Amino acid sequence: MTELTHYIDGAHVQGASGRTQPVFNPAIGASERSVPLASTQEVNTAIAAAKAAFPAWSKTPVLRRARILDKFKNILWDRADELAAILASEHGKTHDDAVGEVTRGLEVVEFAVGAPNFMKGEFSENVGSVVDSHNIRQALGVCAGITPFNFPAMVPMWMFPVALVTGNTFVLKPSERVPSASLKVAEWLTEAGLPAGVFNVVNGDKEAVDALLHSPDVKAVSFVGSTPIAKYIHQTGTANGKRVQALGGAKNHAIIMPDADLEMTANALMGAAYGSAGERCMAISVAVPVTDAVADALIDIMVPKINALKIGPTTDKTSDMGPLVTEQHLAKVRGYIDAGEAEGAKVVVDGRDFSQDMQGYEDGCFLGGTLLDNVTEDMTVWKEEIFGPVLSVVRKSSYQEALDLVHSHDYANGTAIFTRDGDTARSFSQDVEVGMIGINVPIPVPMAYHSFGGWKSSIFGEHHMHGMEGVRFYTRIKTTTTRWPSGQRTDPEFTMPTLG
Ligand code: NAD
Repeated sequence: MTELTHYIDGAHVQGASGRTQPVFNPAIGASERSVPLASTQEVNTAIAAAKAAFPAWSKTPVLRRARILDKFKNILWDRADELAAILASEHGKTHDDAVGEVTRGLEVVEFAVGAPNFMKGEFSENVGSVVDSHNIRQALGVCAGITPFNFPAMVPMWMFPVALVTGNTFVLKPSERVPSASLKVAEWLTEAGLPAGVFNVVNGDKEAVDALLHSPDVKAVSFVGSTPIAKYIHQTGTANGKRVQALGGAKNHAIIMPDADLEMTANALMGAAYGSAGERCMAISVAVPVTDAVADALIDIMVPKINALKIGPTTDKTSDMGPLVTEQHLAKVRGYIDAGEAEGAKVVVDGRDFSQDMQGYEDGCFLGGTLLDNVTEDMTVWKEEIFGPVLSVVRKSSYQEALDLVHSHDYANGTAIFTRDGDTARSFSQDVEVGMIGINVPIPVPMAYHSFGGWKSSIFGEHHMHGMEGVRFYTRIKTTTTRWPSGQRTDPEFTMPTLG
């Protein structure tokens, strides 16, 4: 069993709390590594390193900060496969899906490299007689990130590239279920030239999170995870005077209108419901066909596709989806299918019957794709986030009924509509109270230069992540008003001024 580390002040640091937890490989159903769980004191050491690094880093020219991230971006391009293999060995997703995740994270680094442009301030001359005014964005100080298990590389990269390039220093507390990717990223940031202490990783559980939330030296907290914890992070962080953006859980509905291209819709739903074994906050977990005829036709197309899903370990290039993240999570998802059946849903395809030749992976946490029909709003499988390869079908007879269903859920992360009618699509996109909308696009994850976030119980806090919303979250505006009693003279210069 290899014991992992923390990464503090530019170097790997062994855990000193005496507490550790096994890191599970869900494809083989066994642990090969253990992760140290940081004590409050260890977290405070990381915060102190980040605090000490802040004055110099925040005054480093933004172009220089961007160039370091540019080098880091090139390392990521070159070694995306390596990072993907590391994260998939702890998460279980397929290799290609893991490479896709690294790429989507890398795109935020690409956005951050443009910081010299988006950090430019505003200037107004003669706001009064010989008085000028300008404003700039300045970094907050030490920022913390607390991240979930399902995107071990991408979700941290929603946060730290923007935080760092705008001049903050950072302490990341990754999910204790998937700690290795963050440690690798920390090494590569150092290799790219990031000064010691600017980016730190503390591994741990609630004790580490609480230490971050209660430290007066942490100025802002970015969180992604389940809704109850997001709410707790927001309440505790803001009560301690911090800026907090806390993204929570999801239950994403896709409305299928009678004029939709059903073959295209079925393929879209296959990827959106079963990709990454449904462990995505933007997974479509509820299909809402409008009319019974559409529901019957859609299910007829989907059933053979679900039965044909190739389920296997990340190392098998032909796998469509991998195992669930842990035995406990597998048991939880199976329990939801049991509950759906007991509450009256029709189990059209039953993932609990999964059996494939799994030579060498017999103990993995595999579950087959599942389709539940005739799901209704009073059932647990509709009310709660399952976070597994389970698609529920809720039949509705009109567009308005389908829209009302979407609105009656507390979660409002993403949603999609499948239709050929521009009028329906336009009113859906205008009227639906959800943060991210897809029109014939099942997983409408915004690009890095837009911002990511849901509404209602899928977010606590005002700012979405990355893009300009990320920049606003990690900076505060300072406005200076200036009057000079006289002009200033300098000697002439004849060489091209450069940064050096
Ligand atoms: P989680 O809430 O269990 O854990 C997230 C983080 O919080 C981890 O770092 C964990 O160590 C920490 N944590 C857990 N319990 C805590 C406690 N009691 N006190 C303090 N900290 C605690 O989430 P997860 O199971 O890792 O991830 C899955 C969830 O994340 C799903 O609900 C999914 O929808 C959500 N998610 C949301 C988004 C989004 O953008 N909205 C993106 C990805 C995942």
